[in-house]
Amino acid sequence: MKLYNLKNHDEQVNFLQAVQMGLGQKQGLFFPMNLPVIEKNKLETILEMDFLTRSIKILSMFIGDEIELKYLKQYINNAFSFSGPNIVPVSKNISCCELFHGPTLAFKDFGARFMAQILSHLNNINNQVTILTATSGDTGAAVAHAFYKVKNVRVIILYPNGKISKLQESLFCTLGKNITTIAINGSFDACQKLVKQAFNDNELRTTTGLNSANSINISRLLAQICYYFEAYALISQKNRKRLVVSVPCGNFGNLTAGLLAKSMGLPIQSFIAATNANDTVPRFLSTGQWKPYNCISTISNAMDISRPNNWPRVQELFYRKQWQLKELNFGSVSDQITKETLCELKNIGYISEPHAAIAYRLLKDKLKDEEFGLFLGTAHPAKFKNVVDNVLNENIKLPFALKIPSNLPLLSYYMQPDFNKLRKFLLLKK
Ligand SMILES: *Cc1c(COP(=O)(O)O)cnc(C)c1O
Repeated sequence: MKLYNLKNHDEQVNFLQAVQMGLGQKQGLFFPMNLPVIEKNKLETILEMDFLTRSIKILSMFIGDEIELKYLKQYINNAFSFSGPNIVPVSKNISCCELFHGPTLAFKDFGARFMAQILSHLNNINNQVTILTATSGDTGAAVAHAFYKVKNVRVIILYPNGKISKLQESLFCTLGKNITTIAINGSFDACQKLVKQAFNDNELRTTTGLNSANSINISRLLAQICYYFEAYALISQKNRKRLVVSVPCGNFGNLTAGLLAKSMGLPIQSFIAATNANDTVPRFLSTGQWKPYNCISTISNAMDISRPNNWPRVQELFYRKQWQLKELNFGSVSDQITKETLCELKNIGYISEPHAAIAYRLLKDKLKDEEFGLFLGTAHPAKFKNVVDNVLNENIKLPFALKIPSNLPLLSYYMQPDFNKLRKFLLLKK
C-alpha cells in the first residue's frame, strides 16, 4: 500500500511506515494513493460474509501484501475480539448503530485495538516505541487499554484537565504500568498542538521512538471502515435503498472512514456531518471560509474540537472521487437542544448520550420520506452518566467496564501547555 503526504505529494510511504510515522513532513497527513473499489457484482458476496471475514477482505484491499494474510487475519481477530456494531431501532425509519460494546465502551476501540496490533507487528522489527497521544476523552481509554502491558511500548496520554468526564478519566488514568497520563491545563486543541510540536522535533522523535495513536493514524481509519460495511449488512434490503448516515464529529476520523467505505462502493446515499457548538466545519461548508474559533466546552466533550485534524482527508477524498462538497449534509447542535433531544429519545424508549443525540437531532430534522437513517452511537451512555442522569432524571447502571476503575485513584501528572516541559518529561522518563 502506498500513501502520500497531503502537504507534500512527493513524500510517499508504505502502510507500515505511515503507521509508524503517524504524520509526514510539515505535519501532513498520509492519504492512500490507490482507492480500492469493490465491483458491483461482488458487493453482495462481501456483505454476506461475517464481520471478521469481511473486515480481513476490506483491510487487505488497502494493505495488500505488506502484511502476510495469515498475520493480518490474526491481528484483526485480536483487535475485533468484542461485539461488533449493533443496530437498534428507535423509530420507524431511524436506528442507532451502536459502536460502544468494546472494552472501553466507545467506537474508538475498533481503531485503537487494530493499531496496537499493527504496532506490535512493527515492534518485532524495531525497539522501544513511545505512543504520544492527545485525547478529548475516549481515545485515551481506547489507546491505553489497547496497549496496556504491551512490551516495549510506553504510552503517554495528554488530556484537557477538568474537561473530560470523571468516568472517562478513571478509565485510563488509573492503569499505571506502561501507561502515563498528563492532565494539561488547557483545551483539547492545546493538547493536540503539543503532540504536533513533539512530532516536529526530530531529535525527540528519534530518541523516544515517537508515535501517535490519534485518529490521524491511518491504521485507525482503515479499521473503522469495517463497521460501516457491517452496519449496512445488518439492515434490511428495503432500508438500504436510501440510506442516510449521521456521524457525530470531532476530529472527523469517523466520518472519513464512512466516506472511504462509500468510496469503495458501499451504497450509502449520503452523510450528515454533525457537530456541537464547535462548528468550524459546518460554517466552512455554508460560507466557504475556514475560520476556527476558540474551543468551547460542551456536554458532548469528545467533540470539543475546533481544528479538526482529519478534515484535509475529507477534502482530498471528495477531490479524488470528484464528489461535490455540497452533497455533504451538515449541522451543529447546541447543548440546550442536545438535552432536549436526549429527553425526546427517552420518550420514544431509547436512552442515549450527548454525542449520539447530536447525530440523531440532525438526522431526524433532515430525513426525508422514503429515506432510512442511521445515527452512530459512539459511546455508552454510562460514560456520560453525570449529564445523562441529570438531564433524564435517571440513575443509569455502570457496566462492569466502568465500575472497577471508578473506585481507583488517579495517577495523572499535571502540566501547563508548555512544550519545553513536555519535552523534558519525555526525555527524562524514558
Ligand atoms: C471521538 C468521539 C467522537 C468524534 O469522533 P471523530 O472521529 O473524532 O470525529 C464522537 N463521539 C464520541 C463519544 C467520541 O469519543
